Amino acid sequence: MAGPYDVVVIGGGPGGYNAAIRAGQLGLKAACIEKRASGGAVAFGGTCLNVGCIPSKALLHASQRYEEAQKHFAGLGIKATVELDLPGMMGHKEKTVDQLVKGVAFLLKKNKVDPYFGTGRIVSAGKVEVTGADGKTEILETKNIVIATGSEVTPLPGVTIDEKTIVSSTGILSLAEVPKRLVVIGAGVIGLELGSVWRRLGAEVTCVEFLDRIVPGVDAEIAKDFQRILTRQGITFRLSSKVTKADTGANGVSVTIEPAKGGAAETLETDVLLVCIGRRPYIEGLGAKEAGVKVDARGRVETDGHGRTSVPGIWVIGDVTTGPMLAHKAEDEAMAVAELIAGKAGHVNYDVIPSVVYTWPEVASVGKTEEEVKAAGIAYKVGKFPFTANARAKTIAEKDGSVKVIADARTDRVLGCHIVGPEAGNLIMEVAVAMEFGASSEDIVRTCHAHPTLPEAVRQAAMAVDNRATQM
Ligand code: FAD
Ligand code: NAD
Repeated sequence: MAGPYDVVVIGGGPGGYNAAIRAGQLGLKAACIEKRASGGAVAFGGTCLNVGCIPSKALLHASQRYEEAQKHFAGLGIKATVELDLPGMMGHKEKTVDQLVKGVAFLLKKNKVDPYFGTGRIVSAGKVEVTGADGKTEILETKNIVIATGSEVTPLPGVTIDEKTIVSSTGILSLAEVPKRLVVIGAGVIGLELGSVWRRLGAEVTCVEFLDRIVPGVDAEIAKDFQRILTRQGITFRLSSKVTKADTGANGVSVTIEPAKGGAAETLETDVLLVCIGRRPYIEGLGAKEAGVKVDARGRVETDGHGRTSVPGIWVIGDVTTGPMLAHKAEDEAMAVAELIAGKAGHVNYDVIPSVVYTWPEVASVGKTEEEVKAAGIAYKVGKFPFTANARAKTIAEKDGSVKVIADARTDRVLGCHIVGPEAGNLIMEVAVAMEFGASSEDIVRTCHAHPTLPEAVRQAAMAVDNRATQM
C-alpha cells in the first residue's frame, strides 16, 4: 500500500500531467499513473506529445518548408534545388517528441509528483490499483482520484486498421515512404492536417467525407473558402460520401464508397488509407463504471461542469469527458480541478476555447460561429477583411483567406472570430484575450496595432463590423 495521497491522477497526457503538476505546486501530495511505454520506459505526454499534436505539427512544419522551398522560393528571387530526406524529416519529428516527453518527466519530478508506470484501475473512491508491465500490482490510497485517460481512434466498421496500409492517425505519422495515392476517410482536422503533410511530400490525396462540407464545427463560410484553397493545392474532395468497405491486396487498398444517402457504389484504389472519423473516450479496464461513475450515451464520463463526477472524490478532465477534444482544453480543466481540490477557485471558460487547424493557410476559431449565433436568435453584425488587402500578407506573398469578426448588434460585444489565413493560429489569440475580458469590437479597433503586421487584418475586420474598415 502506497500513499496516502491527496491526488492520484490516472493518465499522463496534457490533462493528467498538468493536473499532477498543479497539485504538486499547490503543496498536495500527488501521483500520476501512465501506461504508455517507449523503449521500455514510461512515456508521459499522452496522445498529444507521443502520437498527436506534437509529431503532427513537426511534420506539418517540415513539409510546409519543403513545399515553400520547392514552389515558392522562386517567386521571392531565391533559386534552390530541393530534395526530400524523409528519414531526416522523421528524425526531426522523433527528436521533438523525445525532448518534450522527457521534459514532462522532469517537470513531474521537479514538482514532487510520484510517477507510476502501469495501468491504473479504480477499486473504489479512495483506492487505485496500479498494475506494472511485470504484472505486479500495488494499491494507492488517496483522498482524490482524477480520471484523465483520454481518447482513442473511432473505428469504422468494414475497415480494419493494420497501421501499414490501412492506418490511423498514429500509422500515418510514421510511413516509411511517400505513398503515390492516399485516401483519407473524414475531412476533419486530422484528415486535412495529415492529408496536407503527404500531399506536400508528393502524394495524390482524396478526402472522402460523409457530410456535404469539410471541418464540421468551423464557421461554414470560412470552411467553404478553406475547401476552395485546399482544392487548389491539389486535394480532391468526395463530399456526401461514405466508405463501406476496404480490402487490402497486392497492389494496395480497394476502397468502396457510396453516396451518404445510399446509391451506386464505386471503388477507389489507393496505396494508403487513413481512417480519421473522430475519436472516442477511453475508459477500458478503468473500473470507473464499476465504482459508480456515470458515463453518458456517447461513452463520456459525466461531470457537473467543474470536473466532479457522480462519485464524490472522483474527478474527470480532458478528452474522456464532454467538450472539445483539445489539448489546451484538457490542460485548463487540469489546472481548475487541481485548484478546486486544493480548496481554491478553479475555473474554465468553455465559451472561449480557441481551436486551430494547422494546415497552410491555417484555420482558427474562437467563440460562436455565424450559424450558432443565428440559431440562438441573437441579433449580430459581421465584419470581414481579406488578407489580399493586408500589407504584411503582401510582403510575405500570402494572399489567401480572411478574418471574420462577429459582434452582438446591440452591445457590440465580440461573440466569435474565424480566420482562414497565414498565422491564423497566432492571430486568434488576440481575440480570445479580448473575449475573455468581455471586449467589444470597438475595443479591438481602439487598440493600436503595429504596422505592417498580420494582426492589422483582425483590427480591420473589427472595423468592418461598423462598416468603417479603412483599408478596403
Ligand atoms: P491523452 O493525451 O489521450 O492522455 C491520456 C493518457 O492516459 C494516455 O497516455 C494513456 O496511455 C493513459 N491511460 C489511459 N488509460 C490509462 C490507465 N487505465 N492507466 C494508466 N494510463 C492510462 N489537440 C490540440 O489541442 N492541438 C493539436 O494540434 C492536436 N493535434 C492532434 C493530432 C492528432 C494526430 C491527434 C490524434 C490528436 C490531436 N489533438 C490535438 C488532440 C489532443 O491530442 C488531445 O485532445 C489531448 O491529448 C487530450 O489530452 P488528455 O490528457 O485528455 O488525454
Ligand atoms: P473530426 O471530428 O475532426 O473529423 C472527423 C470527420 O469525419 C468529420 O468531418 C465527420 O463528418 C467525418 N466522418 C465521420 N464518419 C464518417 C464516415 N463514416 N465516412 C466519412 N466521413 C466520416 O475528427 P478527427 O479528424 O478524427 O480528429 C479527432 C479529434 O482530434 C478531434 O476532436 C480534434 O479536436 C482532435 N484534433 C485536433 C487537432 C487540432 O487541434 N489541430 C488536430 C488533430 C486532431
